[in-house]
Amino acid sequence: MIARIDLRGSLDDPRAVLPRAEFDVEAAVERVRPICEDVRHRGTEALIEITERFDGVRLTSIRVPKAAIDDALAQVDPDIRAALEESIRRARLVHRDQRRTDHTTQVVPGGTVSERWVPVDRVGLYVPGGLAPLASSVVMNVVPAQEAGVPSLALASPPQREFDGLPHPTILAACALLGVDEVYAVGGAQAIAMFAYGAGEGEDRCEQVNLVTGPGNIYVAAAKRLLKGRIGIDAEAGTTEIAVLADDTADPRHVAADLISQAEHDPHAASVLVTDSLALADAVEDELKTQVAATRHEARVREALSGPQSGIILVDSVDQGLDVVNAYAAEHLEIQTADAAAVAARVRNAGAVFVGAYSPVSLGDYAAGSNHVLPTGGCACHSSGLSVQSFLRGIHVVDYSREALADVAKHVVTFADAEDLPGHGDAVRARFDWTVPST
Ligand code: NAD
Repeated sequence: MIARIDLRGSLDDPRAVLPRAEFDVEAAVERVRPICEDVRHRGTEALIEITERFDGVRLTSIRVPKAAIDDALAQVDPDIRAALEESIRRARLVHRDQRRTDHTTQVVPGGTVSERWVPVDRVGLYVPGGLAPLASSVVMNVVPAQEAGVPSLALASPPQREFDGLPHPTILAACALLGVDEVYAVGGAQAIAMFAYGAGEGEDRCEQVNLVTGPGNIYVAAAKRLLKGRIGIDAEAGTTEIAVLADDTADPRHVAADLISQAEHDPHAASVLVTDSLALADAVEDELKTQVAATRHEARVREALSGPQSGIILVDSVDQGLDVVNAYAAEHLEIQTADAAAVAARVRNAGAVFVGAYSPVSLGDYAAGSNHVLPTGGCACHSSGLSVQSFLRGIHVVDYSREALADVAKHVVTFADAEDLPGHGDAVRARFDWTVPST
């Protein structure tokens, strides 16, 4: 069901042999290009046709009526409401602590550089709803955007046939709890294009946004990659991955359950175990056989675990295992070893790290307080998960007096001449009667 890669005794760079998907984001970009172009040129008409093709719903309007959002909250199961509220409460605690404060550096007397943190004006938040209605992703997108102080939030999620073409009611209930009422029943690459170009008329208009955040499948990640530049994006938070670095102290039942928990997201999801214990590898494989047969989304999980993106990697030691997981740069990395905190402190590349036996990834998916919108496909070596920072821009404000400029004028002019850009130097000299002050 799951492939084995044996790196014991190997000193080679592990990157060449790591499990990776055959169909990657780059290939998906070519699939979504015509979708995005169509939305750009034909707006709502294109959204209606594409939605009918991929979601089997004929939209009468792209925007979800406010009454439907309020109704969803009125009718939500009280236990689900309590879980959403607890998730929001914990996420607020963590994200509130991420707020940035402006600061000013006095470089010289009369010369300061300040950094002002300013929220993006308008964001588009994507909430997946193809294979599972990820109400938790409403929390993970909205809370940091609100804590950053973003004034205009729009949210999109695929329409569901069984709910009259609206997004899933739990997603709408989460929106209501968070006070978000601009919601669009549009999913996939077409939702990202709607945010990037704007679409619709009058009451049914979605104005274009400055930044798009949120997780999604490979088509959503591909549209974000394609439209980056026209819009800002958080990171490519695509198809889920879990890597578990474990030794013989790990419980194989926990490891197998955690590998399954992420495999159930998507047939293309990646589940990877890296271990120096052959006994653990064997026990996890046995556990997978039992647990997969009993899991609700068995077919999807089986496909994900048996795909080229999943595997059990055997290494000689936890040290070599760390090299492997750092090279892999997983979205989620669990450390289930002796002295897990010390091992976790040596991780350099991961979207989020889950330490020890009682910090499973699914805790982070819903209610740890951490954010679950995380970089995938190896992007964790250069990008971070969603946070308040994702919604802020730091603007430098330069404020020099005449004396402070005079003090550095000679260096500016020298630099400008060295770059053969004398106009730059002249802009300084013009302020001192075309001379370079000697102070
Ligand atoms: P989704 O909302 O991301 O995608 C559904 C949409 O995909 C549909 O509305 C449809 O328009 C489009 N689509 C389906 N087939 C298509 C095709 N052949 N061509 C073009 N578009 C097509 O929902 P999903 O599919 O359930 O995926 C959710 C994803 O989000 C999973 O892969 C999960 O692993 C991932 N996820 C990632 C993170 C993260 O932070 N990285 C977090 C949570 C979930």
